[in-house]
Amino acid sequence: MKKAICPGSFDPITNGHLDVIERASHLFDKVVVAVLVNSSKGSLFTVDERIALAKDCVKHLSNVKVDSWSGLLVDYCRENDIDAIVKGLRAVSDFDYELQMAQINLQLKGVDTLLMAAKPAYSFLSSSLVREIARYGGDVSSLVPAGVLIELVKKAKDSSSAGSQLGR
Ligand code: ADP
Repeated sequence: MKKAICPGSFDPITNGHLDVIERASHLFDKVVVAVLVNSSKGSLFTVDERIALAKDCVKHLSNVKVDSWSGLLVDYCRENDIDAIVKGLRAVSDFDYELQMAQINLQLKGVDTLLMAAKPAYSFLSSSLVREIARYGGDVSSLVPAGVLIELVKKAKDSSSAGSQLGR
């Protein structure tokens, strides 16, 4: 049985993430979507909210599960017999960072990384862009799954009524 992991902040999960997860689920027997807890990154959604949204988005994929992790990704991989890390590559600008991460993860614990080319339609898409557009009340309905859109609209309403700034 071959297992892959798709790690990320998923703040929130977007159609671009989902596309990579779906394609990985066709290539591997099992796929774990790992919501990484990174205390240095200010987030819009709590870890529990990000997990719940990711679970809702992958519920049609029977071989995909969602988990969270606050340690080193390679330790999760070793503890859970993961064969490969799958990351999406949107543009050349992603490449330097992803190559460095892939090489350090290989060096640290011998874990391989597969870099999957993003669908051109999603190559501009990032969670931070989605947060930014939503913050100003823009339409992100073509960028995120329906369940995420509902929660983004709620956050925007909450933040405007509280006078705070979405995504900051
Ligand atoms: P982001 O970079 O959007 O803030 P994450 O840190 O959650 O998101 O990213 C996790 C992984 O998902 C990374 O490998 C990233 O390259 C990939 N990814 C993010 N957005 C896309 C996209 N639109 N298409 C393909 N892969 C993506």
